[in-house]
Amino acid sequence: MDKLSNLEFDAAHIWHPYTSVAHPPVLHEVVSASGVKLRLCDGREIIDGMSSWWSTIHGYNHPRLNAAAHEQIDYMSHVMFGGLTHDPAISLSRKLIDITDESFQYVFLADSGSISVEVALKMAVQYWFAQGRAEKNRFLTFRSGYHGDTFGAMSVCDPVNGMHTMFESILPQHIFAPAPDCQHDKDWQDTYIAEFRELVEQRHFEMAGVIVEPLVQGAGGMRMYCAEYLRQIKQLCDQYDLLLIFDEIATGFGRTGSLFAYEQTGIVPDILCLGKALTGGYMTLAATLCNQKVSDGIAADGQGVLMHGPTFMANPLACRIAAESIDLLLESDWKQSVAAIEKQLQMELQPYSASLIVKQVRVKGAIGVVELNHPLDDMMEWLPEFIVEQGVWIRPFRTMIYIMPPYIISSNDLHQLCEAIGKIVAEIESRSEKS
Ligand code: PMP
Repeated sequence: MDKLSNLEFDAAHIWHPYTSVAHPPVLHEVVSASGVKLRLCDGREIIDGMSSWWSTIHGYNHPRLNAAAHEQIDYMSHVMFGGLTHDPAISLSRKLIDITDESFQYVFLADSGSISVEVALKMAVQYWFAQGRAEKNRFLTFRSGYHGDTFGAMSVCDPVNGMHTMFESILPQHIFAPAPDCQHDKDWQDTYIAEFRELVEQRHFEMAGVIVEPLVQGAGGMRMYCAEYLRQIKQLCDQYDLLLIFDEIATGFGRTGSLFAYEQTGIVPDILCLGKALTGGYMTLAATLCNQKVSDGIAADGQGVLMHGPTFMANPLACRIAAESIDLLLESDWKQSVAAIEKQLQMELQPYSASLIVKQVRVKGAIGVVELNHPLDDMMEWLPEFIVEQGVWIRPFRTMIYIMPPYIISSNDLHQLCEAIGKIVAEIESRSEKS
C-alpha cells in the first residue's frame, strides 16, 4: 500500500514543467477551480493571475463550456481523423476561417501549440521543397522568442534564454536577429530593423521564411514591441519571397486588445498558429491556418500531401469546446473587458517602477509585466508560498513577475492581484537589502 500523501508521491515520482525530480519544486495541490479562483486542498481559495498560462480566458468551470463538453462526450470524445471527419472539427474550422483574415483558407488542427508550430514550419519547408528549392529550409526569427518545446519549435526559440541551450548541437541551425527593442511606433527608427534586413539580404536564398510572435514575445522574455517591426518584416518577406509565420498561440483570442495581434499591424502573415485560449483553456488543442499561396505551393509537386497526422488530430471533444469558447468570446464584451483590464494594470502596476529593484513595468491588453533587475531563481524556495499567502496565484519566472488574468476578472480581484505584486516586490526588496 502506498503510504505517501499526494504531495509526497508527486515529489517522489512526477515531473512538472521545467523542474528536476532530484530537487522537486514547491507545489500547491488544486482540488477545483471556478471563475477566477483556484481552490487548494487545504481549503484556501486564491485568485488566478495566470489564466493557466494564457488559456482560461473565460475563467474555470464555465457552465457553457461544461455543457458543451458533456454534450459532446455523449456522442464521442474521440475518433481518428484519418479517413473520417466530424461536425466539431468542421464547425470549429468554419469559425476559425470566419474570424480570421479572409486570406486564411486552410486549417490544420494540431494537438498542442508546439505541434502547431512544427506544422507551420513543415508547411513552409514543404512549400519550397515542392518548388524544387529544397535548400530554402532555414527560418529567420527574433532572439528572445519562444515557440514551444518540441525539437522543431525549440530550434526557433531564443538560442540562449529559450530554455533549450543544451540541445544546441542537435537542433537545426536557424538564423537569429536581435530581439525587438522599440515599444512604440512613434519612437521608430530604421536602425531597429537594420540587422534583420541585412540577414534577409545576405541569406534569403537559404530561408524558407520568418517566424515571430507578433507584438508580444511570451515565455522568451515577455517583451512588447511595436507594429512597425512587423510591417517592415512583411515588406522584406514580399521583396525576397519569404513566407511569414505568426505564432499567435499566446496573443490570439483577444489577449493584446484585438482578436488577433496581427489586426493591430495592418498586415497578415501567410501562416498563423493558434492554441492556448482556443479551447478557453479546457483541453489541449491548437490550429495552424494558412493561405492559398501556401497550400498551392505545397501542392506544386503534384501531390500536396502535408506530412503530419497525429493520433489525436482534431479531437472532437476539444474541437466542440473550442467552437463553444469562440462563440462565448464573440458574444461577450471581451474588447471592453480587456481594455478595462489594461487600464487598471497601467494604473496599478506603473507605480512599482519607482522601486529600485524594478527595471521596467510593461502593459499590453490583458498582460501586465513587472520586470526586476535580478533573476528570481534563488527565491523559489520561499516565493511560491509567500505569493499564495497573499491570496493569489502568480508564477514569476527569471526576472519577471507577470499576470494575464481571465477576461472575466472583477476589478476587485484584479486589484488584489496588483496589490499582491506590490507586496512581492516589497518583500524581495527587503530580503535583498538584508542579504
Ligand atoms: N508558442 C508560443 C508563443 C507559446 O507561448 C507557447 C506556450 N507557452 C507555445 C508556442 C507552445 O505551446 P504548447 O505549450 O501548447 O506546446
